[in-house]
Amino acid sequence: MKVFRTIAETKAYLSEARGKGATIGFVPTMGALHQGHLSLFEAAKKDNDVVTASIFVNPIQFNNKEDLKKYPRTPREDIRKLEEAGCAMAFIPDVEEMYPEPVVDKYDFGYLDKVMEGKFRPGHFNGVAVVVRKLFEIINPDRAYFGLKDYQQLKIIETMTRELKLPVEIVACPTMREPDGLAMSSRNVRLTPEERIIAPAIYRVLSQIKEKTRKYSITELENWAVHQLNNYEELNVEYLEIVDAETLIRPGDWNDSESMVVCTAVHLGKVRLIDNLILF
Ligand code: AMP
Repeated sequence: MKVFRTIAETKAYLSEARGKGATIGFVPTMGALHQGHLSLFEAAKKDNDVVTASIFVNPIQFNNKEDLKKYPRTPREDIRKLEEAGCAMAFIPDVEEMYPEPVVDKYDFGYLDKVMEGKFRPGHFNGVAVVVRKLFEIINPDRAYFGLKDYQQLKIIETMTRELKLPVEIVACPTMREPDGLAMSSRNVRLTPEERIIAPAIYRVLSQIKEKTRKYSITELENWAVHQLNNYEELNVEYLEIVDAETLIRPGDWNDSESMVVCTAVHLGKVRLIDNLILF
């Protein structure tokens, strides 16, 4: 596997591959790779001739300095895992390479970036849009793979790609979970053993919401779920919302929308976990 730190080397390598007629699949990551990431590479391998990755902990998408500082970094293990996953090339730039000048781009995704993660992490999705667009320009992939784990992020990237007519197909991949239901996340390694035992409560409650869909009102179910989670002394729900799966608007009634998803962010000790589940 080729590992490049510069944009120039990455572009040169990929233009050669493209010249030979290869299709290129791309999986952007922030590293600390786990099985959830690797499932994206599996999907990319099936659809494309050449699979590429990026590892970049994007500082401008962190609204919390402490979170950026504590973000797990495992570069050596990551490179080994990418090699095993059949990745042909990894682009691993430093911050200077990606942002030689201060970033001034501003995106507005209307409602999509104002709610949930957008509301509680101001600037987060602007940082995501800036880095993903820049990575798309560098890699110029045929297809790019994103996890449903970051549901709102996926909707933002789909919207950006559509609105800017970027020549890339966005492929959504299912959330990989631990056997007890906890969504795999790079941040899970920061949980204490005690917290790790409590963490699966999040997915348990989301699954219970799915079972109770239409049996109660949307607001009743949201309130019930927040109460269930906050009953654990260690859990603190930041938001839990049942929303339209495309617009992310909260419908008043189950019949107001063709597809709904429940999204939540929960603090567990010093770690902030997000999860979601498509209800129908
Ligand atoms: P990250 O490194 O956290 O930026 O994630 C890189 C990509 O992996 C994003 O598209 C995530 O949505 C995806 N991802 C993270 N965790 C999971 C998971 N448990 N299952 C599936 N995809 C995931």
